[in-house]
Amino acid sequence: MSIGGNIDSVQNRINGACMRVGRDASEVTLLCVSKTKPLSALQEAYKAGARVFAENKVQELTAKMPEMPEDIEWHLIGHLQTNKVKYIVGKVALIHSVDSLHLAEEINKQAEKAGCVQPVLIEINVAGEESKFGTSDLEANTELIRNVSELPNLKLMGLMTIAPYVEDPEENRIYFRQLREFLYSDPVRGYFPEKPVLSMGMTGDFEIAVEEGATHVRVGTGIFGERDYGKL
Ligand SMILES: *Cc1c(COP(=O)(O)O)cnc(C)c1O
Repeated sequence: MSIGGNIDSVQNRINGACMRVGRDASEVTLLCVSKTKPLSALQEAYKAGARVFAENKVQELTAKMPEMPEDIEWHLIGHLQTNKVKYIVGKVALIHSVDSLHLAEEINKQAEKAGCVQPVLIEINVAGEESKFGTSDLEANTELIRNVSELPNLKLMGLMTIAPYVEDPEENRIYFRQLREFLYSDPVRGYFPEKPVLSMGMTGDFEIAVEEGATHVRVGTGIFGERDYGKL
């Protein structure tokens, strides 16, 4: 199928998941995860109506951004090194991957320099996987959220997680539910805006994530096809 056809089909599946649990589909934003894909693929998605794109590497994001139309909203979803923060602060709508106070402080510093307030999410390692960033420790995460909330040039919007890779997406329902419950628990809830962001769900499990309350789903393969890392 074409990229446009894929976007339609992913959107229809999001709509179906919303319908099953009585949510309004307008509450869910589909992020087109274009990492490793050539500009031609992004342009095709744009022509099909996509306006929200996500990349996981700063260098790739800043290379693609000036080549694409200006009405695109860009998101950074991958691990962010402190020395790269200055290249993206104020340019991306949302940084999904704040996993330490050290990183948050650097974003705050660069945002202050740039005279902006940078919206961010805290990345939570819900399943406690060794291979992933962030921690599953609820107390440590609560502490991180509290500390980040005090940084004046950051706007804490919500939480993000990358669930484990599983064959049956139902296995991840518990993690999506736990993330939502954590976001809405005391005192965590108080640090976030009235309509907080829950960034969860990828190609393999976005419908389950939507059923469990995701407001942003990050879909790459389901829109652009398999990634070929060998060519990079
Ligand atoms: C690559 C990536 C995605 C998209 O993964 P797919 O399985 O291709 O949909 C989502 N989130 C993050 C953080 C990613 O790095």
